[in-house]
Amino acid sequence: MRILVTGGTGYIGSHTCVQLIEKGWQPVIIDSLVNSKISVLDRIHQITGTRPAFIEGDVRDAGLLQKVLTEHAIEAVIHFAGLKAVGESVSMPLKYYDNNVHGSLVLMKAMKQCHVKTLVFSSSATVYGDSSEPPWSEHVPTSPTNPYGQSKLMVDQIMADASISDTAWSMTSLRYFNPVGAHPSGLIGEDPQGIPNNLMPFLAQVAVGRREALQVFGNDYPTPDGTGVRDYIHVTDLASGHIAALSYAHGRSGHHVFNLGSGQGISVLQMQRAFSKACGRDLPFVLSPRRAGDVAAYWADPQRAQSTLNWQAKKSIDDMCQDTWRWQSQNPSGYP
Ligand code: NAD
Ligand code: UDP
Repeated sequence: MRILVTGGTGYIGSHTCVQLIEKGWQPVIIDSLVNSKISVLDRIHQITGTRPAFIEGDVRDAGLLQKVLTEHAIEAVIHFAGLKAVGESVSMPLKYYDNNVHGSLVLMKAMKQCHVKTLVFSSSATVYGDSSEPPWSEHVPTSPTNPYGQSKLMVDQIMADASISDTAWSMTSLRYFNPVGAHPSGLIGEDPQGIPNNLMPFLAQVAVGRREALQVFGNDYPTPDGTGVRDYIHVTDLASGHIAALSYAHGRSGHHVFNLGSGQGISVLQMQRAFSKACGRDLPFVLSPRRAGDVAAYWADPQRAQSTLNWQAKKSIDDMCQDTWRWQSQNPSGYP
């Protein structure tokens, strides 16, 4: 199958491209490189022996999309391209809606024009409201608390409406929990620009000496050790979730929604200990006030993906930390 992968040089996209190639499918990447480096392609080549086709460009460029869909005889699209910093989305909502919602609309219109009707979209657990008790199934009421989450929910809704209007569409929204980890080769991984917002890349940079100490945001939550609890999923498990979803959905009409998570809650301090073990050094941390907007605890109910896609997350928290450490220690400053 020839698959257009938007945002394919990014963190999750690159790991998914590796698995698409390993499955014998042909990824064609379009990415504006706004948050990734072209050298990712060399690394994918090193891992798989194949260098995927790459087009530098923006998904909001309708003409370019139609050209790529046609010239590469694309059969399905995995749509990762988007902006993802929650804080930035609060200060720059128009930029986020334009990139994430308008970009997805341009893509879907180009797909319709070119008769490509299978779409797998990167949605997020941030679409769920935070008033429900975990675990969160796909039935939890949605009510995002920031423009980033809103933009994901809007696209989910557009996909649902489009699939009702035309039964040739196969639309799949994958709601990721917290993706972490790296390819076990240490050749590809997460490479945030500037100070990392997220726990795992911050810990990795403390481990490699780029940051002094982890700030633990709040230790007075109603959780076993008082720190925030999340559902971390290894990025290679997440990538295999895309393969499973595409295998299931291609040719199957409708709007399909799946949580991709491990189903397990892990606290900040559990993660700090696991990373310390992986890198062989007790990583320093300081207890700090809660971060505005944070929820105490949530994790996925991954039952639907298990029973329908025959997919489940397999990798442990130790795998996540060991693989992140291998990537970070082999590439202390990220990609060249
Ligand atoms: P990433 O930033 O590493 O990858 C996104 C890629 O999209 C980047 O390579 C960027 O250059 C590209 N891009 C952005 N806007 C573009 C545009 N308009 N046209 C073309 N390319 C564009 O992020 P990621 O962590 O790999 O996330 C991939 C997707 O998954 C995103 O849509 C994100 O919102 C979603 N998601 C991520 C997480 C997470 O924690 N990483 C969680 C839930 C959902
Ligand atoms: N966190 C932390 N210090 C950091 C970054 C995150 O204590 O430097 C905590 C955060 O409060 C939350 C958990 O780690 O409880 C996961 O946060 P992250 O930003 O990685 O993901 P999200 O908030 O999207 O779940």
